[in-house]
Amino acid sequence: MGQKILIVEDEKELADILGAYLSVEGFEPVVANDGVEGLKAFNEKQPSLILLDIMLPKIDGIKVCKEIREKSEIPIIMISAKSGEMDKVIALGIGADDYVTKPFSPLELVARVKAQLRRYKKSSDVINSDKNEIKIGELVLKKSSYSAVVKGEQLSLTTKEFDMLFFFAKNPNQVFSKEQIYEGVWGYNGICDDNSITVYVNRIREKLNKYELDYIKTVWGAGYKFSI
Ligand code: CA
Repeated sequence: MGQKILIVEDEKELADILGAYLSVEGFEPVVANDGVEGLKAFNEKQPSLILLDIMLPKIDGIKVCKEIREKSEIPIIMISAKSGEMDKVIALGIGADDYVTKPFSPLELVARVKAQLRRYKKSSDVINSDKNEIKIGELVLKKSSYSAVVKGEQLSLTTKEFDMLFFFAKNPNQVFSKEQIYEGVWGYNGICDDNSITVYVNRIREKLNKYELDYIKTVWGAGYKFSI
């Protein structure tokens, strides 16, 4: 299956048309019909991009966009019924990447979807798509040999430190709570010890700091994210 595209649109007919066009291009469309469903689908389906209508039942597209932006840099293309709505989106600086105004050509929208995905891939700079090897920023991580190389030098990490750094680097620009980090690194829903996550994060940071890299950022009240 191709990359998932979340379509948050209450006009079912339009959602179906967009879904059909995206399927033809090899994408996997996921449709949500209101803002609440949209947020739920974002959390559960991990889409690669979101097409987000502004006027939606329950929670409007502007609020949905803001909420997603607190957690993720995923590309968002807003869809509006009238051009005046777009002024609001721009004025509010809600973090959308692009927008279209109805009526629009589905083919043009598909082209924009592809452009945003290309841009996003480039910005996250994960060169090797092989999940066992990640090259991002100044880092090269190889899972098979637990090797971490920074600026050409081997970085000395414990197994768990490596796992955590790998987990972060695999998901750049995404904010993770301590619980999510725990689950992602230790691989099960255990009792998350907040302190030990902090200790690990600090140790990795110290090691990266020697190379003047501060890739692991604190997102106050939310957790941590990896960004270069
Ligand atoms: Ca609508």
